Amino acid sequence: MAGRRIALLGATGSIGRQALEVIDAHPELSVCGLASGSQPIDDLAAARGVEYAQVGGDLTDLLEACRPDLVLNAVVGFAGVGATLWALEHGVALALANKESLVAAGELALRARRSGGGLLLPVDSEHSAVFQCLEGRAPETVDSIVLTASGGPFRNRSLADLESVTVEDALAHPTWSMGPKITIDSATLANKGLELIEAHFLFGLEYERIHVVVHPTSVVHSLVRFRDGAALAHLGHPDMRVPISYALTYPDRGATAVPHLDLSRGVTLEFEPPDGQRFPLLPLARMAGERGGTYPCAFNAANEVAVAAFLDGRIEFLDIAPLVEDALAGVSGAPANDLAELVEADAEARRLAGGRLVAT
Ligand code: NAD
Ligand code: MG
Repeated sequence: MAGRRIALLGATGSIGRQALEVIDAHPELSVCGLASGSQPIDDLAAARGVEYAQVGGDLTDLLEACRPDLVLNAVVGFAGVGATLWALEHGVALALANKESLVAAGELALRARRSGGGLLLPVDSEHSAVFQCLEGRAPETVDSIVLTASGGPFRNRSLADLESVTVEDALAHPTWSMGPKITIDSATLANKGLELIEAHFLFGLEYERIHVVVHPTSVVHSLVRFRDGAALAHLGHPDMRVPISYALTYPDRGATAVPHLDLSRGVTLEFEPPDGQRFPLLPLARMAGERGGTYPCAFNAANEVAVAAFLDGRIEFLDIAPLVEDALAGVSGAPANDLAELVEADAEARRLAGGRLVAT
């Protein structure tokens, strides 16, 4: 592979730090730009001789300045939208961890990809798995996708038990170590809802052909089912360095330090249906996705507001879903024709969710 200059957005986060580890293992990969939301990154940039570094501000300024070969968008939340659209519009390869941007801006992102023609490489483990299972397959042979979910820390809690769970309980994820926002999303299953919408836009499948199944050990990262009755699955230890490395070294599948599964020691493969009663954000996300327009954007925005409020101790765990549901009921959901209209739809949902927050 020729040298690849990477702009790493969200460099101080969980994905960002693991990406630096992957980059360091590959001499052909280098960092040309670093960005964080509020954490200082000057030292990190200086230590690596990175010329362009930015804390906060408009991420597209950094991208315009450093002109990378690949953008790794590992920012959390809607803040990543501008960078996703920039990479797709400019035909610059995009390694996408920031699922919120594709959920919120799916239609605009697809339009940008059509005109820019760049590669869109999923970093989310499930989507990386699906992407790999789909490689080289004719679309008409694909029946459906099955996304796996760990079920999060509350998989076995009753609804009554969920009333009293704390932020600390919700942050104790059983299989993945991740940033706080996605960890809460994993506890509510909103994360799988976001991933359902992400899969719809990435792979162009209708929602009824995208299924979710709970798989507590997170060994199977997802499956693709084909028309002949065969299913291809992607297995491995739950370690984000694998999908990060796959995207950054694509199509070379560079080596990583992650060990193989030792099947001779036994591997537990259990699956069960998700429970939409205890985890209503998953069916709510599906509904938002099916409605289309800016409903997915509103779902994401209201969820960001609710998760931040929960992390701040302002609402209870079980207040998160009703807050999102109410916000969704109040928005227009009309499609956004451009980024400005999308930003307005995002703001509208945040206002509704914020208003309800004040009322509680
Ligand atoms: P994190 O909270 O650990 O890190 C987020 C990073 O984004 C930080 O560097 C932060 O400074 C930066 N950031 C926040 N707001 C910003 C802004 N306005 N401008 C620029 N930078 C900003 O989060 P994470 O767990 O690394 O997750 C990042 C993204 O990857 C999320 O979209 C998440 O859903 C996705 N993802 C994460 C994992 C994981 O294992 N952590 C797995 C799959 C997908
Ligand atoms: Mg995932």
